[in-house]
This record gives sequence, C-alpha cells and structure tokens, in this order.
Amino acid sequence: MDDQFDDWKWQMRNRISTLEELLRSVRVSPGETEGIQKAGQSFAWAITPYYASLMDPRDPDCPIRKQVVPSEEELNDDLGVPDPLEEGKHSPVDSVIRVYPDRIAFTVSKECPTYCRHCLRKKRVVGEDGCSMTWEKIEQGIQYVRENPEIRDVLLTGGDPLMMSDERLERILSALHDIPSVEVLRIGSRAPCTLPQRITPELCEMLQKYHPLYLNTQFNHAREITPEAEEACARLADAGIPLGNQTVLLRGINDDVSTQKKLVRELMRIRVRPYYLYQCQVLTGTRHFRTPVECGTEIIRNLQGWTSGLAVPKFVVDTPYGKIPAGPDYMVGRRGDKMVLRSFDGRRWEEPNPLPEGDSEPAVEADSRCTECGSCSVSEE
Ligand SMILES: *Cc1c(COP(=O)(O)O)cnc(C)c1O
Ligand code: SF4
Repeated sequence: MDDQFDDWKWQMRNRISTLEELLRSVRVSPGETEGIQKAGQSFAWAITPYYASLMDPRDPDCPIRKQVVPSEEELNDDLGVPDPLEEGKHSPVDSVIRVYPDRIAFTVSKECPTYCRHCLRKKRVVGEDGCSMTWEKIEQGIQYVRENPEIRDVLLTGGDPLMMSDERLERILSALHDIPSVEVLRIGSRAPCTLPQRITPELCEMLQKYHPLYLNTQFNHAREITPEAEEACARLADAGIPLGNQTVLLRGINDDVSTQKKLVRELMRIRVRPYYLYQCQVLTGTRHFRTPVECGTEIIRNLQGWTSGLAVPKFVVDTPYGKIPAGPDYMVGRRGDKMVLRSFDGRRWEEPNPLPEGDSEPAVEADSRCTECGSCSVSEE
C-alpha cells in the first residue's frame, strides 16, 4: 500500500471524483453534496488521495477541503465572468498567451493532478472541448517562439506541464532550449503541493539539463507543507532549479495575516521563495473566495518589514493588461529637497533628495512602452 501511495501514477489512477469516493475520506456536508451535484459538472473535479489525506474529515471549513471540494456557493456568483483575463484575445496561436513584449505563457497541458475550485484557467483546463493538448498545437507554439525572437522567457503552464510524461516534456524543453533567442525557461506546476510524488529523481535529472530553468508552484496554506512536499521541493532545489510560489488570496482560507505569515515562513524553510500573492480573479463561481483588493494590500503591509524581505511576495491583480502590483506604497511624496517616506511601522522619514543641478523635474527614466497618457516621455529600447 505504501509503495503504491508513493507512486504518482497510482495517485492519478485513484483520484477522488465522485461523491461516493469522497465519502470514504470525509464527512461530506450538505453544501458540499449540493456543490458536487450541481457545480461539480460545470468544472472538473478530482483530488489525489495524497491531497485528500490533508483534509480534515470533520470540518467543511478546512482550508484544504475548501480549495478542492465543489461547494454550493459556486452557484451564487453574479459578477464572475468566464474569461476575466480575455485570454482568448491574447492568443496568437492556440497554445500561446501573450500579454508582455518579452515573454509568453505556453499552455502545454490541460490536466492537473488536483483541480482547484478557484482555478484562473477554468476554460483552458479541461477546456470546453474536453480534449487534451495535441502535439500539433504544441508544435505551433514552439514555432511561434522560433519566429518571434523578442520572446526570451517561456513559461510552460496549463493545466499542469508535469502531467505529461518525462519524455514528452523533455521534447518540449529541448526544442525551446535549442532556440537561441530563448534565455530562460519556466514551469508553472502545482504538483509539489497536490502531487509531490510526481517530483521523482528521474524527472529532476531530466529537468536539470535545461538550465536556466525556474519552477513556480502554488501553496496556499501552511498545512500543505508536509514532509512529502518538502522532499519534492528539496529534490528540485538540489537540481539547481530556483523555486517560487504563487499564492492565491482566498477568503476563509488564507485571508489573514497570521495564516500568510506562517505560510511564507514555511515556504522559506523548504527553499521556496514567495513570489506572487494573487487577487482572486472575478471568474465564474468564485465569488465566495474573493476578498476586496485592499485585503491583499494590508496583508503585505503586515509582512513587509515584519518578516524577512525574501519571504514577502508581491501582491498583484492579474488583468487583461498584465499583472498589476497593488502592494502598499511607502512613498508619501516630495517635499522641497526631501523625499518623505513611511517606515514599515508607520514612522515618517525625510530623506535628503535634492534634484540634480539645473533640473526642475525628477530625473526618472521611463523605459516602458506605455503610450496611454501621452504626457510622459517614452523611450523604447
Ligand atoms: C503571469 C504571466 C507571465 C509571467 O509573468 P511574470 O510577471 O514575468 O512572472 C507571462 N505571460 C502571461 C500571459 C502571464 O499571465
Ligand atoms: S493547479 Fe493551477 S491550473 Fe490546475 S486547477 Fe489548480 S489553479 Fe487551475
């Protein structure tokens, strides 16, 4: 039994995806039963036995359960839309999402080990067509990167790229690695959290041939940081893969300072650097998860300076125009020859800040290609 439990393919074959199966692990609440019967159909649900083993069998408010068990609350969402990021508009080819000048998200898989009820890519994951990503569509994406040499950073995402076999994944990584204009490869995968058994020594041996390779994962709660997750992250880190974490801010799951502080400290302990804290998308069926944007800003204000700087993620709102940082601002403003700043614990500091001789305006260089307001000077590289 234990041998099998450690085998990721066994985990995949034995995923929980019916009410009867779930009843064997937890005491299912009426809201969950209703959710499974109604909302469970509109978006795939499946939970690995490993991730299910982290659930509190008696508490429907368990932060693990709430992330993955369908709930009746999903049916009450009058604001959410199916594609809040308008990704459809940003796909030059089917498998590519391009929002930024120098990097793309490349969706190479439509499957995940465990499906999150807050998933930002509900449409792409087990897409409406239901089929998995064809090799032809993946080839198109690779060709797109070849033909657009300004793309220097390719983020493999999905779904979860680690749902593919090592061989298939290696074909993609090696093809991208061979493109001279590609400087950095990244993988976005929740496997270290929901299926840590997937991170085998063989996988890590293969991945480390394609450096510089980064991997970002998604832990949302300290309870997810188990010995298994720790071992998976250690293997990846030992293979020289820098690890980052992208937490989704979820009401009732991790929307308070002490939960977040515990999470980021645990992440640092397992060598995963907190990278982003995401505002939950205004996406169909997620109203019960969403917090006001100010909630994330305040959480960061209570981390910055109060714990290691390395452990403080950037709070962002993802939009059709890219990710927009919405963290607290510590700059009060210029006062004469001084810049007034606020410290982490609320004290004002006036930093001597004279303008360079002869200048009447701050010497700030704009290096973006923003063309919106027309009033700032814009320089292109
Ligand atoms: C998030 C994202 C990226 C990567 O963004 P970083 O801020 O560099 O991590 C690239 N493309 C798309 C479409 C994205 O959503
Ligand atoms: S692992 Fe990521 S892509 Fe998959 S269901 Fe969860 S949020 Fe969506």
